[in-house]
Order: sequence, then C-alpha cells, then structure tokens
Amino acid sequence: MQVKDCHILIVGFARSGLAAANFLLDRGAHITISDIKDHQELEKSISQLVGPVRLSLGSHRLEDFLDADLIVLSPGVPSSLPELERASEAGIPICSEVELAFQFLHGKVIGVTGSNGKTTTTTLIGELFKKAPGHCVVAGNIGFPLIKSVGSPQPEGATPTTFVVELSSFQLENIREFKCDTALLLNLSPDHLDRHKDFLDYSRAKERIFLNQGGTDHAILNADNPYTMKMAHGRKAPVFLFSRKQHLSDGVFVNEETIQISYRGICEKLLPVREIALRGNHNLENVLAATAAGFLSGLDRNDMIETFRTFQGVEHRLEPVRKLHGVVYFNDSKATNVNSTEQALKSFTEPLILLMGGKDKGMDFTVLRSLVAQRVKKLVLIGAASERIFEALGEVVPTVQSRDLAEAVRMANETAQPGDAVLLSPGCSSFDMFDDFEHRGRIFKELVLSLKGQSLDSSSKEAE
Ligand code: ADP
Repeated sequence: MQVKDCHILIVGFARSGLAAANFLLDRGAHITISDIKDHQELEKSISQLVGPVRLSLGSHRLEDFLDADLIVLSPGVPSSLPELERASEAGIPICSEVELAFQFLHGKVIGVTGSNGKTTTTTLIGELFKKAPGHCVVAGNIGFPLIKSVGSPQPEGATPTTFVVELSSFQLENIREFKCDTALLLNLSPDHLDRHKDFLDYSRAKERIFLNQGGTDHAILNADNPYTMKMAHGRKAPVFLFSRKQHLSDGVFVNEETIQISYRGICEKLLPVREIALRGNHNLENVLAATAAGFLSGLDRNDMIETFRTFQGVEHRLEPVRKLHGVVYFNDSKATNVNSTEQALKSFTEPLILLMGGKDKGMDFTVLRSLVAQRVKKLVLIGAASERIFEALGEVVPTVQSRDLAEAVRMANETAQPGDAVLLSPGCSSFDMFDDFEHRGRIFKELVLSLKGQSLDSSSKEAE
C-alpha cells in the first residue's frame, strides 16, 4: 500500500488513532485528524504526534471526509456516522486501523473475537507462542494497537512472526483484506449489543473474522454455543471446534476431566483440568480455545502444558492478589456487569466474602440470588448501586454497606476466616468512584496488600 503524499483522514484520536497517525506520518502521508473532543481534551495525544498534522476538532466536518484519499477509523467511532456514509457513497475508501496495519504486516495472524474472554484468550495464546520459535506480538483491542508492531519486513529464512490479535466487532466491521491464518470465535451472547443495531448486525460483524480465509487457514469455534455453531457451516477454512461438554471427532474437548485433542482419527490427552491454574468453567473454555490454536500451529505439547499450569490470568480478571492467614483475595474488577459476577461466583468452591457495587446501570441483580445464597457468606456493598443491590440480595445473605472501598476491604478482612476467599467482583462499572475498572482494581490490590493480618482476630470481631 502506497501512502506517501496521500491525504488521510483519521477519525477518532485515542490510542489507535494516534498510533495510525504516527505510522502514516513516518511514511510521508498528509494527515488530518477529526474528533468530536476538543484540543484541550486531546492535548496528551496531540503532544505525542511525531510530525505536523491538520487538526479538525470539536465536531466532525463533512468536507474533511470528502477531501480524503483514505479514511482510517478508530475502534471507538461508530460506522453509522453520517459523514462516513456520505464519504462511502462518494467512493472514498474507509478502513479500520487493523486493516491499515494488515497492509504492512509480515507474518501470521491469529485473530481472536467473541463476546467474552477475548483478552484472556489472546494473552494466553500469546504466552503459548512466546515459548515457540519466532517472534510473537500480542496486539489489537487488547490495548496495544496492531499498527505499532507492523512495518518491518522479516529477514529471509526467519521463522514468521506470529501476531495474536484481539478483535472487537467494531474493528471487524471495517476490514476489507485483513485475513486471519487462524481465526477464533469464542462465544456470542445477545447481552453484548453495545453499539450495534441488533443481534444480527452484531453477529455479522463478529463473523467477519473469517473473511478472506481459504483452505489453508483455520476457523476455530465454540461447539457449545448455539450462535457460534451456526457459523461453523459454510466456512471456506477447515473448522476446528472446542467443547467443554461434548466429545468431538475433530477438535479439543474435555473427557474424564482431561483436555483431549482429536484430529483425523487420532486422539491425544493433554492435561487434567485440575492442573489448569485459571479458575472457572469460562476460563476452561478459553484454555480449550487456546489449545486448539496451539495445536493447529504445531506447538510443543509440554510447553503448552507448562503454560496452562502457570498462567494466572490477566490483571483484574479473577486475579489472585494475596493469601493472608489462610484467606485468599481476588481482584475481579473487570466484572462490570452482573453476568461477569455470575461467572466469578461459579468459579469458587471456598466460602466467599463478596465485594459488589459501583455505578448503577439499572441491571437486575436478583438473577444472582441463588448463587449468592449458595456461595457467599457475607456481602459487602459500595457505591451508588449499593442500595439497589441491598434490595435485591440483602435478604439472602448477611449484607453490609460501606462508605468506600477501603472500608469494604477492612470489613471483609475482619469477617474472613481461614479457608474463605475475599472477592471483589463488583457487577457494576466503576465510574462513580474511580477513573475506570483498572483504577478500581489497582486501589483494591493496594488496600489488600497493606492489610496487616487482622484476619487472625476475625472470629471475635465477627461475633459482635
Ligand atoms: P473480553 O476481552 O472479551 O472483555 P476478558 O478476557 O477481559 O474478556 O474477560 C472479561 C470477563 O468476561 C471475565 O471477567 C469473565 O467474567 C468473563 N469471561 C471471560 N471468559 C469468558 C468465557 N469464555 N465465557 C464467558 N465469560 C467469560
């Protein structure tokens, strides 16, 4: 792709917009940046530009779109923007940042999408490939723009670089030639409608992960999910399934509590499920998907086993923080909806002290009643949603409301007995008290790490 002297409009100036702008500036393109935020809000990104650009901020202007030779869309920008529709009618090419990156990419692409588990599975596959020959890059929606790691051709004879790319539906909406050598569709859930018109629109965007694949590529799909199974039909690439619940003739599945791989009539055992370091059935599915990707790339089995035994997960997702006097502490700050808290609760056999609450998005917390009754011994609430959670769950379990996260951690620590687990899995977003879920998780970890062991006295305090 030739970009020198081209007039390129970048729409959306967050992390990937900035990376795309700098990449294109380096290659001699003329850049205009369009964003509805103003100069002040974007100051930090503007200061990181490596060359001169034209800034068109505060609103989108149609003439910027119509004057461009190419429009590069950041993942946060809706494709339904009227200016984009007009540009498209005028025949101006529009692509997402990953499509642009693909034009300059040398190596193999393993793409990961789905409603849930993208970041965990992408990271896990990255860990698997780090043990294999050749360079491995983990990028995409995970927070590291793909465009940042492309552009340098590989030396003759070198093992191809593997790009493990997390792809959101928004990124997939605007690909044209982007192709995954191995494409994974983890799951699809109608709850995740975000910016899409409806479920059909959302599923179609996700299905584009298989776009441009051919007979030498691979399509990996979840056999336990009715929506992904529908998409297994009509694929040009050979389909390889994974399942937690059923035996497969070609795929990765669980049999007698052991992960097994079956391929062309040969079945091999990989490792017992109990040896996997990650907790929960949802994470088991992520491990099965990663196994499929590793197997199809011919990775060493012992290296894969070692990774599954040691990989503790991604920060803020059921992340073990500390064990203190027999009590384990987990940070699941990424659980910003009820569904995720449900997954977390199912992942524990220990009696739980559960910290919930945050910004109230009007979710129905009563769906957690039976799980909370079975697994939680005390519920500690924080934030704006705490009143509504109290109404929904207060009857089924001893519940206290706390002023802030510090008080919640202290209360949990006082209640916990050896053998219990303290879990922050808020079921709410964090914006009432924190910048984002990462900020909330970091503060939680600091609070937990600063505990001095009061949990030894917990029984007397709890009796008060
Ligand atoms: P994503 O990147 O798709 O948001 P993450 O790996 O960050 O996914 O996990 C976010 C949350 O989604 C987790 O905390 C967990 O509650 C849930 N989750 C993870 N993997 C799965 C899965 N395979 N199926 C269902 N839910 C999952």
